[in-house]
This record gives sequence, structure tokens and C-alpha cells, in this order.
Amino acid sequence: MLTEEMDGWRKTHYTKDVTLDLVEKEVILGGWVRNYRDLGGLRFITLQDVYGERQITLKKGIVSDEIFEKAKVGYQYCLMVKGTVKSFEKAPGGIEIIPTEIKILNKTPEKLPIDMTGETTTELDLRLNNRALDLRSVRNQAVFAIRGEILNSARSFLHDHDFKEIYTPKIIGSATEGGTELFPIMYFDREAFLTQSAQLYKEQLSGVYERVFEIGPSFRAEKSHTKRHLCEIVQLDMEIAFANMKDVLEILEELVRNVIIGVRDKQMSALKLLGMEDKTVVPEIPFPRYTYEELLDLLNTKLNLKIEWGEDLSTEANRKLGREIPGYYYITHWPMAIKPFYIMPSKNPKFSESFDLQKGWLELSSGGTRVHNKVHLVQALEDKGLNPLAFESHLRTFDFGMPPHAGFGLGIARWLTVLCGLDDIREAVMYPRTPERLTP
Ligand code: ATP
Ligand code: MN
Repeated sequence: MLTEEMDGWRKTHYTKDVTLDLVEKEVILGGWVRNYRDLGGLRFITLQDVYGERQITLKKGIVSDEIFEKAKVGYQYCLMVKGTVKSFEKAPGGIEIIPTEIKILNKTPEKLPIDMTGETTTELDLRLNNRALDLRSVRNQAVFAIRGEILNSARSFLHDHDFKEIYTPKIIGSATEGGTELFPIMYFDREAFLTQSAQLYKEQLSGVYERVFEIGPSFRAEKSHTKRHLCEIVQLDMEIAFANMKDVLEILEELVRNVIIGVRDKQMSALKLLGMEDKTVVPEIPFPRYTYEELLDLLNTKLNLKIEWGEDLSTEANRKLGREIPGYYYITHWPMAIKPFYIMPSKNPKFSESFDLQKGWLELSSGGTRVHNKVHLVQALEDKGLNPLAFESHLRTFDFGMPPHAGFGLGIARWLTVLCGLDDIREAVMYPRTPERLTP
């Protein structure tokens, strides 16, 4: 049989809106066949849409022979169904739809590349190869519903706290934080780069709007093969004028807490589906704060891992710390030598006014107080072996009354893996970009 057109049909409801109030009413639903069972004289279609699913029941003799025959559908066929809502205790949600007409809008091959019934989990690479199909799974619907609520809650928290949403350019003329890890592109006849962070622009704009945030893409040309690195990420960046690291630590922990309250409030069923309702709980604030040096001591003594002062914390070190401190916590006052030029040195200039936000073993965010004095900033560039001339237009803004400022950048996908209990960051983006993967 050929497929059909929608013609005049339009959905009257999403599955979630088909409630017992609608019993005996006619509805038109649209979606995909999650499951199909043929028991001879009885056929069941589980029709899913973006909000859930409803059972379509076809009993020979009750529905017309024509529609009974037509209902021989395959997994993930795209259908529209017109029918009457009935109360039926044994059906999921206590509701079934007895169809009067069905339109088959598109078909699928006999065998789908991945299991969509939810009975087994297909290997991640195969799922990613067929991502638009894979994203229809109940599990993925839950993951991305939670992502949506993270962004929604974060935005409303920030608006409530007088932040302005900014958008900074993603095509840049020179390196943001030093020449490494950038993707070069052709910009007409010149070389340009994809930005690795909104850092410099958000700093500039803190000198205009005082409290700014951006939720936007960054590109990291690192050949990392870990379960926490991607080449294209979305970051939540914020910057506050007339503030320092302490202010940022306070607002970030409050934001984290508020977002988790929002996720639990609006997406509890998604958390339950992922088995996270008892794990993604509202954290107490303030978060514990440890200095880099304190944690180095802990690692070198109790945790038996030799790390030299001044080194970054290895994955192994982070894993050990995460077992010791499983919740949210801050690591502050990192050695200046491993921090970028725009970070403010501490009173003891070996250290810096910088921090990471961790959840267990995983880094979620980095931030700190920034240098706002131009002379110091030029010196900091030189100390890092960078050429101040390459930063001329950025440095010029510091001639015009740049206020003291501080901020952070937080990786949305990293946080989503934590909140959903995912094993691999590639599950936390719709179309991940890794050194190997450029499609789909
Ligand atoms: P890491 O040390 O874990 O590689 P980073 O210190 O290089 O991260 P930052 O420059 O501090 O990362 O970026 C701010 C945040 O953006 C990080 O805390 C993390 O949540 C996220 N992030 C950074 N790089 C990546 C990446 N390649 N893939 C996914 N998320 C990232
Ligand atoms: Mn970092």
C-alpha cells in the first residue's frame, strides 16, 4: 500500500493531553509506532509522540475490516489516527483509543538498525549513526527533556538575578586564550578560527551590562578520546562586574541548586525513567570548598597518589577525589602557572583567584576573578608567552574604565551526563562532534 498525505487532518491533541476528560470524544493523534502486537483478532498499536504514548486498540468486529487490515503496521511507521477515547483500566494510563480512521504517512524497513521498543539497548556508535531515529527512544526523550529544563531554569534564574543574555561571535580573527586547540577556517581569503570560549567578549560586555550570560557553542580542537570531551560544546558562560571569585562561587552554587529544583519539579518522570530520582537530589549550599593545595595533600597522603605541586589533576586524581567527595564541591586557588592569562593572581602570586566546580570526579565549570588592569593584563600575556599585539582590540576596551569582574563557564553536556547518570558525554548531545565523528 502507498503512503498517504495528511490532507485536512491536524492533530487535535498530544498523547499527554488525552485524559479521562475526553472519554467518548473524537481525537486525532499523530506519531510513531513504538510497539505493535498482533493477537489474531486483536491488534494493539502503541503510538508515541514527543510527549508520551497511547494505546490504539483494534478488535475485529468492533473496528471496520478495512481499518483492521490497515493496522498491520511496522515499528516506527509514522501514523495519524482518528478515533474515540475510551476508558480501559488495563491499558497504559487507563485509556485506549478505538480508531475510526488511520493514515499511514510513512513506512519503515522491516528491520530497523536499532531497537526502538526499549527492550534492549543498541551499542552507542550504531545509535549515533542513526541518531534522529535513536532520539525518539523514551530514554533519549527523557535526557533531552531534562536538558531543556536545565536551560529553562538557568535562564529564568539568571533573568531573576538581573543578568542580560548576550551573544558573542563564534568566528574570531585570533586565538582567545593562546593558539592551541582552535579550528582554523577560511573567512573569504583570510584565515579565521572557531571560538573556543566566549571569554574575552563576555568580559568586555560585563563592562557594559554588568551582569551578563550566554548559552552558546564553543569549539575545541582537541584529539581527546574520553567520555567527557567533545569538539563542539554548548557552554553556559557568565560574567559579573564589580565582583570577585567569592561572589561567583555564591551565585553559581545557587544557580546549580535552583536548576536541580526546577528539574525535579518539572521533569520528575524523566528522572524516574532514568532511575535518577534518588540520585539527582537538591544539593545543600554552600558547596564544600577545598583549595588546590588541600586536595593535593589529601591525594599525596590518604589517597596515595603522588602529584607534584603545580601539576593539573590527572583523570586518576579526579577519580580518587570523586570517590572521596561524591557531591558538588569547589576546588579553589589553582597554581597561576596552569591558569590562563586573564585570571587574577592571588596575594601570593603562585596561586590564582580561580576555581573549578566538580561533581564527584567530573569538572563541570571553571571560573575566577579576572585581571581588569590593562598594564597587568599585558604583563600576564607576556608571562604566558602570548603577543599582546594579537589582543590589541581586546586590550583597548581596558582603556575605557573596565570594572573589576569575575565569572565562569560551565559545560551543559557535562552537567547533563551527571544529572541523567549517563556514562558517556556523547549521549548528552543530539549530534556529538568528536575527532572521528562529523556525521550525522
Ligand atoms: P578539561 O580540563 O576537563 O578538559 P577545561 O578545563 O579545558 O576542561 P574549560 O576551558 O575550563 O575546560 O571550559 C569550561 C567548561 O566547559 C568545563 O568545565 C567543562 O564543563 C566544559 N568543557 C570544556 N571542554 C570540553 C570538552 N572538550 N567537551 C565537553 N565539555 C567541555
Ligand atoms: Mn577548566
